[in-house]
Amino acid sequence: MITGRCLCGFVTYTYDGVIGLAGYCHCQDCRRRSGSAFGISVKLDKEGFQIAHGRLKGYTKQGDSGTELTRHFCPECGSPIFTSSPRHPLHLYVQAGTLDDPGIVRPIHQAWKSSAVAWSTIDPQLATFTKGRV
Ligand SMILES: [Zn+2]
Ligand SMILES: [Zn+2]
Repeated sequence: MITGRCLCGFVTYTYDGVIGLAGYCHCQDCRRRSGSAFGISVKLDKEGFQIAHGRLKGYTKQGDSGTELTRHFCPECGSPIFTSSPRHPLHLYVQAGTLDDPGIVRPIHQAWKSSAVAWSTIDPQLATFTKGRV
């Protein structure tokens, strides 16, 4: 059984099913909703996904692709949990970073590279700290 949760722990979920394709998305909407350089989501079967605790709030907007997307997030701490679309009724696109074991995700593509910001790739020359910066 796969599990995940938001930052504050109000929303927890379980998943029993196949781990689908995962990918980076550099579109403007993913940048804004994540507050970071890009989003990383993993495609899961809606059928095997269950909210175990809490509830989600949704925000619906037409994406850059023209598809209507609903972004579901924790109403308490704001963590994005998954994206759904009426165009893909059998699947959810879960934010990979909310998984308790994010190591199970293997991104295989990057979409909307034309919108990518220069800092979406971490320069290996940057000063690096194993833990917090001192
Ligand atoms: Zn939360
Ligand atoms: Zn996107």
